[in-house]
Amino acid sequence: MSHFKGKYHDELIVNAAYIGTPGKGILAADESTGTIGKRLASISVENVESNRRALRELLFTAPGALKYLSGVILFEETLYQSTAAGKPFVEVLKEAGVLPGIKVDKGTVELAGTNGETTTQGLDGLGQRCAKYYEAGARFAKWRAVLKIGPNEPSELAIHENAYGLARYAVICQENGLVPIVEPEILVDGSHDIHKCAAVTERVLAACYKALNDHHVLLEGTLLKPNMVTPGSNSAKVSPQVVAEHTVRALQRTVPAAVPAIVFLSGGQSEEEASVNLNAINQVNGKKPWSLSFSFGRALQQSTLKAWSGKEENVKKAQEALLVRAKANSEATLGTYKGNSKLADGASESLHVEDYKY
Ligand code: 13P
Repeated sequence: MSHFKGKYHDELIVNAAYIGTPGKGILAADESTGTIGKRLASISVENVESNRRALRELLFTAPGALKYLSGVILFEETLYQSTAAGKPFVEVLKEAGVLPGIKVDKGTVELAGTNGETTTQGLDGLGQRCAKYYEAGARFAKWRAVLKIGPNEPSELAIHENAYGLARYAVICQENGLVPIVEPEILVDGSHDIHKCAAVTERVLAACYKALNDHHVLLEGTLLKPNMVTPGSNSAKVSPQVVAEHTVRALQRTVPAAVPAIVFLSGGQSEEEASVNLNAINQVNGKKPWSLSFSFGRALQQSTLKAWSGKEENVKKAQEALLVRAKANSEATLGTYKGNSKLADGASESLHVEDYKY
């Protein structure tokens, strides 16, 4: 069988390449209602629709920030929301040349008989949901699969199950006009070293591309969202150059050149750490046939959230904080980020949470 040739074939390729435009990346603002509740609780703001909408409006209307973005991932509720003045968020993004994306997975459940490993739910009815989201303006999608490193993890079962789940999701997205972001996140939790993370990342990515091929996914119309290769959260840190070398090598060994862009998740790194590591990744000499960019959630929003603190009078300051991070990450995609000695409140604090749920 050949690869996918559905009616959206050309559009998928164009949109995936556009998202990978050097100098631009993705803002992941697709926290589920439960997850955004935890963020809002950290600044003592109530988790109600009006506050969730206000936070998203602050992000999407930050002056100057959207030019550093090619995509924003939304949660279903946000896809249908508007600014206080009544302009749909989808229009705000489209006007600025930013593609709206949508989280389509329904979270993880434990795989029986494993040591807390999981699979991701949401395949039932996914085609209809994708068609509806396309109609509403979404042009790409995200599905987060989660793997963990332990003495015997990830198991073959978890690797296989998650790879084939991602592949099935990806082809359903493509049949309905959405570019799938393939996200097999290997959690940073643990005391393993960087070599262990590199070996596991290679094994997981190799399995994912085998599954994507088995499902006839059009690789040119996909994006990969991996973890960077780092030591575990309970291990000593290494330099950005060491992270960069291990990350690029793992990707060279496993990700086909047909994939237009790799957009990293931040995975609990601080805002500044994520920017500096992405910059080092783009400075590595050697074969890099894809653009290497960002799809950060926590590492794009932390200082903004802190600056806002739920107060109308802080919106401007909060938007300036987003602009600082968006610009830093844009430069990091070009390998020209110089680092920032005057960091905003929250920009250097670790955002790591054990067993993170999105
Ligand atoms: P973080 O950058 O906060 O890890 O989240 C990105 C994301 O979208 C995870 O699915």
